[in-house]
Amino acid sequence: MRTNRFEGFCSACAQHVHAGAGHLTGTPGAWRTWCVACSPRPPQRGDHDGWHRLPLASLDLETTGTDPLRDRVVSYALLDEPGFEITGLVQPGVPVPEAAAQVHGITDAMLADAPTPAEALPVVLDWVQTLVERRVGLVVFNACYDLSMLRAEAVRHGLAQPDWARLLVVDPYVVDWGVERGGLGRRRLGDVAAYYGVTLDGAHDATCDAVAARQVAVELAARHAHVGGLDLDTLMASQRTWYAERAEDWNAYARTAGRDLDDPAGWPLVG
Ligand SMILES: [Zn+2]
Repeated sequence: MRTNRFEGFCSACAQHVHAGAGHLTGTPGAWRTWCVACSPRPPQRGDHDGWHRLPLASLDLETTGTDPLRDRVVSYALLDEPGFEITGLVQPGVPVPEAAAQVHGITDAMLADAPTPAEALPVVLDWVQTLVERRVGLVVFNACYDLSMLRAEAVRHGLAQPDWARLLVVDPYVVDWGVERGGLGRRRLGDVAAYYGVTLDGAHDATCDAVAARQVAVELAARHAHVGGLDLDTLMASQRTWYAERAEDWNAYARTAGRDLDDPAGWPLVG
């Protein structure tokens, strides 16, 4: 949650909050200031059954940029059952832009001897297919970015693809939107992790991000029975709906601001 840059009055207890001494939530035109004591917190964990008690896999990619259909994978982390953790670097065949290297710290020099996408990515794609067959949910934070890029890479290099239509995806970014409806403001992985008390030590290291995303997913399900209690097929449908609603919400703003529109049907794969 962001710090309040301007003084205001707490939305809950109405006490004066000095600039920088509390939190700010909401969206332009509907900001809310909170004192520290009243700042929104997630509910306690429940004792309900749900998908947070099932084995969940997790995937994260680091990449050359922000366009899932044009940018390339430079590293991956795959987490599965306890003890199963596969990470790897990929020589993407294009230079890593400086801005991307700043984000994840992976440079061209580090990738000089890394396998090509055609050598490295079958490991990732085959593993995703095992999840399909085992009916294990795959946690991916902002899945339409990572999964769309993975699929685009597979197409680009002519690699065998998993059965995407049967993949069970748990996207904490979308689930969080379904719970909060965007009311808590910016919700990148670091924001949501902090809200749920999940440690995120090395943000933008693929393994750290994958570990944190899975923990956030578990917290979402454990603390929101109406989400955690869904079976994973129903959760897929709910996430599609939430993503579409989030996209419409964004697009209403984007049309007035001349920004790029999101495809309401673009989850978990774009285009
Ligand atoms: Zn207050």
